[in-house]
Amino acid sequence: MVERTMNEIRESDDSVTCAGCAAKARADVPAHVHRAPHNQRTYTLQRCPNCELQFWWPLQADPSVYEGEGFEAYVDYHTGKRPFPRWAEPLFAALPPHRGRALDIGCGDGAVLHRLAQIGYEPHGIDLDEKSIAVAREKFHLANVSVSTLDAFEHASGLRGEQFDLVTFFEVLEHQDAPLAFLAQVQRLCRPGGIVAGSVPNRDRFLARFDRRLGDGDLPPHHFLWFSRAALVRLFERAGFTNVDVTTTGALPYRQIVAKLAALFERRLRRVASLRWLVLPCKVLAPALAVVPWIGMRLAPSHLFFRCTAPATKPS
Ligand SMILES: [Zn+2]
Repeated sequence: MVERTMNEIRESDDSVTCAGCAAKARADVPAHVHRAPHNQRTYTLQRCPNCELQFWWPLQADPSVYEGEGFEAYVDYHTGKRPFPRWAEPLFAALPPHRGRALDIGCGDGAVLHRLAQIGYEPHGIDLDEKSIAVAREKFHLANVSVSTLDAFEHASGLRGEQFDLVTFFEVLEHQDAPLAFLAQVQRLCRPGGIVAGSVPNRDRFLARFDRRLGDGDLPPHHFLWFSRAALVRLFERAGFTNVDVTTTGALPYRQIVAKLAALFERRLRRVASLRWLVLPCKVLAPALAVVPWIGMRLAPSHLFFRCTAPATKPS
């Protein structure tokens, strides 16, 4: 693909409509451009003045991202040693006494479904990643998990007349290139009045910029949508959900921040011969340095947890 000039980017972005509300969106000025190493495409960040959603243009998911082990974040799932996702914890705080059937879209290694099964839900899950599904079956003995797209699963569920009392999707919505169509599918799978819950990264989290400099996981073609609390509430309300509640979650415990800082120093400073002597002093200082991120993560946690009610009538 030929690199576009800044003028070309601005001209093409004049016609961009918001993925969340169809209003006219605007590119950042100066433009915030990302050239993705994964597919060599150039993306520009857009802001919607109407619903506050930020999204990357061109808004077009790249399925090759989910193939193989190309993206390091998914390798973690394959080992079966991934810790329970801390951003899923709020789900278990207030579930109704009637349990029923639960569907986890993008269930990964099945950790969330396993906990739902322990409290009485009948667990069902889909994921695009074959190795993660293998872990879910072997480690958590989950029978109703499969490698499937949401389209194929919805079609099969429709034929069987299946509905779910709880539909969850953690770290899935930010990957979508058509979020309203995705949420309409969720509605069709959820029973009227059922619970929908999950999480997305908090775009206003502490050290978000630093985080994005360390890796490209929060950038396209991985993540296309960047949410604030207000943008997330508006998207769900526009999609027809009610009782939309969004809270921040995912702050790391102090000892994990210390461990991460120590690992970061080790990784970064060891690379540069003239800085290697700094590794040990920095590691010794890590417990003191961790106080700042610990406070920052409590003021602006890493994730937004959402929970809402599916509407009483189904979309067509
Ligand atoms: Zn919008």
